[in-house]
Amino acid sequence: MKRFPSLIFTLVFVACTTAVTPGRGERGASVSADRIAADIRTVSSDAFLGRAPATRGEELTTSYIRDRLQAVGVQPGGPNGSWFQEVPLSQSDIVGAPSLSVGVGGQTISLKQGEQIAVRASMQNVDRVDIQNAPLVFLGYGVRAPERNWDDFKGEQLRGKVGIVLVNDPDFETGQGDFGGKAMTYYGRWTYKYEEAARQGLAGMLVVHETAPASYGWATVKNSNTNTMFDIVRDNPAEVHPLVEGWIQRDEAIRLFNAVGQDFEALKRRAQTREFRPVALGNATFSANYQVKRQTIRSKNILARLPGTARPDETILFGAHWDHLGVGAPDARGDTIYNGAVDNGTGIAAVLELARIFAAGPRTQRSLVFAFWTAEEKGLLGSEYYASNPVYPLETTVAGFNIDALSPTGRARDVLVVGSGQTDIEDRLQAVLAANNRVMTPDATPEAGYFFRSDHFPMAKRGVPMLYMDSGIDLLTGGITAGRAFDARYRRDAYHQPADEYDSTWNLAGIAEDVMVLHQLGLQLANSRDWPNYRQTSEFRPVRDKSAAKRP
Ligand SMILES: [Zn+2]
Repeated sequence: MKRFPSLIFTLVFVACTTAVTPGRGERGASVSADRIAADIRTVSSDAFLGRAPATRGEELTTSYIRDRLQAVGVQPGGPNGSWFQEVPLSQSDIVGAPSLSVGVGGQTISLKQGEQIAVRASMQNVDRVDIQNAPLVFLGYGVRAPERNWDDFKGEQLRGKVGIVLVNDPDFETGQGDFGGKAMTYYGRWTYKYEEAARQGLAGMLVVHETAPASYGWATVKNSNTNTMFDIVRDNPAEVHPLVEGWIQRDEAIRLFNAVGQDFEALKRRAQTREFRPVALGNATFSANYQVKRQTIRSKNILARLPGTARPDETILFGAHWDHLGVGAPDARGDTIYNGAVDNGTGIAAVLELARIFAAGPRTQRSLVFAFWTAEEKGLLGSEYYASNPVYPLETTVAGFNIDALSPTGRARDVLVVGSGQTDIEDRLQAVLAANNRVMTPDATPEAGYFFRSDHFPMAKRGVPMLYMDSGIDLLTGGITAGRAFDARYRRDAYHQPADEYDSTWNLAGIAEDVMVLHQLGLQLANSRDWPNYRQTSEFRPVRDKSAAKRP
């Protein structure tokens, strides 16, 4: 194995900038790209089996992270002095190959799981899914947004039917409208569409996969939906999950629409208007029959803490998900281990490094919490569990930072903020970046809805100001062209595939610099009395303001 080049970055402090006020004694603290490399390499090695929750991979990963936290000198941050917050999850698997088909014009056309269709093991806590000839209905974007005067359902009786919907929101393709134009609102997310399907009483919901509005290819859909499914344990899962949740390939949908004399593109255009009403797909029906094996299992979040000296009840949160997809379907090379080196070995390593350099410096006035979430890949479940069962009150959580999939592309002039425009943490970030001769690049793909796709979101929904900072793309070597090229290559060849593996030729200097920026920003907040907030235009501002009385 090739030796990774040694890269040590000493923190740079600019005395004349009031925005950056690191505590005394911090001059010795340094971010080590070597440590980051070692952590990524370890947690993404084949031995860790792709870090799936409730597997041997979980044991190895959570033990490794706990040992590292112990070694750097932070304290256990979980309930009752533990390193862990237990997270009960319901786990469901489809037994064997599911029988899935559409009936059209007296013919039955079977759909192959993973090829034409990707159906999740039911999240309704049932042992068998048995839907016979449920009427298929096209539901546009599947959006009901009263505050935007938009309703794709128009009060139609949909109980027991199976809906087909488009991904993203109604103004994604036109770029202009009530849903943020190109930017994706929460209405564009498949999670929302399934939740709405449950509210509408549908038996099932199939999202048509189109690469541009989904922002990822079919391989991602297939790999994320056809393996073991998890949810947090719920009293009434049917409130949020229809019986069948799945995706259908665009070509398959077009064929189906044609068979019943409908034009997919024409219906899509209609779905981009307020006037859209549900369209019954002739006499086409959907059938599904499969057994579901389910059990309740326990996974865990890892929590560490450095208590504040002056205001310990006020918390700055740093988090990254530790989990990935585990062992699954082989890729073209026959590789079955989804190593998740970038996603999210980089985040694990970055938060470990933050814990290390904070622990090496003087204690801050406010508390610092370092979180490693489980089951992000199964739907942000570890962070959702924490947000519903917070160990440290969300009302006095000052700010949170989420790290998910940094780029090993070397130093960049910029950092990206996913879902930029949400909070004024960005203003503080920009000041820190300026002091380091760097800049902030706003969300380059707001249409992908990444703000709803990682672990800050369960906290954001509940009003905690959260920043999801990602690696920049304007690289010192190669500029934006090189940054974009890496992004495109990663998305095509590695994202959520077994090929997301550690590469000893990576340049981790950029990740080290980004960790340094987060350290400076965190230090500043942890030694201040500031309370960042959502901007007035954010949908999350009202929920934060509701708890204003709980903050000094
Ligand atoms: Zn991730």
